[in-house]
Amino acid sequence: MPLRTHEISGGGSGIGRAVCQRFASEGALVVVADLNEEAANETLRSLSRDHKVQEHMAAVVDVSSKQSVERLVESIQRRYFQPASVCVNAAGITQDDFLLRLEEAAFDRVVGVNLKGTFLVVQAVAAAMVASGVSKGSIVTVGSIVGKVGNIGQVNYSASKAGVEGITRTAAKELSRYRIRCNCVLPGFISTPMTDKVPERVIHKMTSLVPLGRMGEPDEVADVCSFLASDDSRYITGASIEVTGGLFMG
Ligand code: NAD
Repeated sequence: MPLRTHEISGGGSGIGRAVCQRFASEGALVVVADLNEEAANETLRSLSRDHKVQEHMAAVVDVSSKQSVERLVESIQRRYFQPASVCVNAAGITQDDFLLRLEEAAFDRVVGVNLKGTFLVVQAVAAAMVASGVSKGSIVTVGSIVGKVGNIGQVNYSASKAGVEGITRTAAKELSRYRIRCNCVLPGFISTPMTDKVPERVIHKMTSLVPLGRMGEPDEVADVCSFLASDDSRYITGASIEVTGGLFMG
């Protein structure tokens, strides 16, 4: 059986990098796609070193650009003669400010990457899967617990992440007839370069609210992505799975 191709947008850092490493360790062909070329190449090097597989690839993509996402999908098809059968879109940004101060451009940028980017990636990847008759496709989007509960200073980010769940559920309904599943992971407070920017006192306060008493690690989110990509989750679609250590449960 040919190896399955897994595409991870935002694979150059944090959660996306951990997902790439997890999939590579399971024997998949991994496409590390990121806006940051050097970061994508660094992830690629880590896969080759750790798992001795030379056939993964790195690619530059801007998920907020339709043209760029389509180029990525074409390059995967050219390289592997098949589209990705698993896709995780972990690309995301924050640009925080209070509602009363947030500039329109900062709203547009965050929505452009997190929400429109999810739409563009899901649409292009699903179209390629449908066109080539991939069976058992699995698309995983990355939302956030703050899309459900809101967060001070993140009106743009929380709106974008609530929208990611809407895209995921609708895609799940529309794509199930092609045997493509679509699910969302909702990380809570995970230790990555994104949260490195958060002031120490906020980290301390947030961590004190987590029932499991600590921040999460990127590989703990990757474990859930791996489950959603695999046949073990074959009867799950349109679901949002919280990976929060219990933060804001219920
Ligand atoms: P990160 O900053 O470590 O990684 C994000 C990656 O996305 C970077 O490599 C960046 O270059 C890439 N990226 C940014 N804009 C892009 C674009 N336009 N096109 C392609 N790639 C782009 O962040 P992370 O913490 O690993 O976050 C990964 C995902 O998880 C994001 O969607 C984030 O919103 C979500 N998330 C993170 C946390 C957390 O606590 N870290 C919590 C909830 C949700």
